Formats: sequence, C-alpha cells, structure tokens
Amino acid sequence: MSTPKLPCDLCQQPVKIQGFSLKSITGVKVFCCEGCKSIYQLLNPAQFSNPQPL
Ligand SMILES: [Zn+2]
Repeated sequence: MSTPKLPCDLCQQPVKIQGFSLKSITGVKVFCCEGCKSIYQLLNPAQFSNPQPL
C-alpha cells in the first residue's frame, strides 16, 4: 500500500514531510512547510476560530 502525497493547501506542491498540518473547521489542512502553514492561517483566520460552545 502506498500513501498518496497530498498537495500543500497553500502552494499546491506535494507535501513530502508530514507535520505541518492544521485542524480547521472544514477539516485538516496540510502544508509543505512552516511558512505555508502560518501564511494560510493569516489568510483564513475564520477557518481557525473556535467553534461556539453548545
Ligand atoms: Zn506549501
């Protein structure tokens, strides 16, 4: 079984190193590097806001 490489959610390059992932309200996002991860958070702050407590 082989694991397909996911594209970085910011720059779309194949993610070679796992570990730069983020849980957003729409699901888990993966990134190729720390830079893409932090830029994505800056560009999409609404996706990482805490859900309203029930
Ligand atoms: Zn990237």
